[in-house]
Amino acid sequence: MLATKFMCGVRHLSTKLMLGTRHPSAPLMRKTSLILSAILVLAMVLTASAHPGKLDKNGGHTDKETGEYHYHKGPNALESLELRRNTVYKAKVERVVDGDTAIISFLFDDGSKYLKERVRFLGVDTPETVHPTKPVQYYGKEASNFTKSQLDGKTVWLQTDVGVKDRYDRMLAYVWLKEPTKDELDDESAIRKHMFNAILLSGGYAQLMTVQPNSRYANIFVHIQREAREQKKGLWGKDPE
Ligand SMILES: [Zn+2]
Repeated sequence: MLATKFMCGVRHLSTKLMLGTRHPSAPLMRKTSLILSAILVLAMVLTASAHPGKLDKNGGHTDKETGEYHYHKGPNALESLELRRNTVYKAKVERVVDGDTAIISFLFDDGSKYLKERVRFLGVDTPETVHPTKPVQYYGKEASNFTKSQLDGKTVWLQTDVGVKDRYDRMLAYVWLKEPTKDELDDESAIRKHMFNAILLSGGYAQLMTVQPNSRYANIFVHIQREAREQKKGLWGKDPE
């Protein structure tokens, strides 16, 4: 029962490994199969922690994170998208979780469907509002409401950097409000105007938080934050107590 929900991730992994070992010698084959089993076990452990929940008799379950029912088996089964680096994906924001996190679904022209992803916006950190143990922080509610007002139900373009997921299995992305052209990806004025991560910083709804290796816009973000701070925007406007 439990093994069924690991299928899609494991299948991709083994296909890739097989391609690299088409004509192995016997000892190499033994070694390869050992490594392969180790990786499969690791993949299962990772998948189990990333996507908890048992499948019912129809091969589906309610996702604990999104609250939505979906299938892992049968004709309506959804898969995880294998995310690529430095790539832009069109998506719909299904629900804003807080100032810097949202649940999205991918929009593809061919109508293919994938599991909804939890997306953490790169390079920024908004004050806490929904953390189970931490108190609500100053300006957290404002940041959360701002993100909801700007993104809820909207079509966005999600740009990955070098590290596409974090250790909580969240997709990591820069969120564009319009489809960026190739030139706009490195154009500071386009970034300031159309990239939501930059908009959060400039409004003082978030602080800069660069987590390596995702630092493509770190320098631009530093400038934007400095301006917001000087102008006492948002969270920078709080008087010292
Ligand atoms: Zn699921």
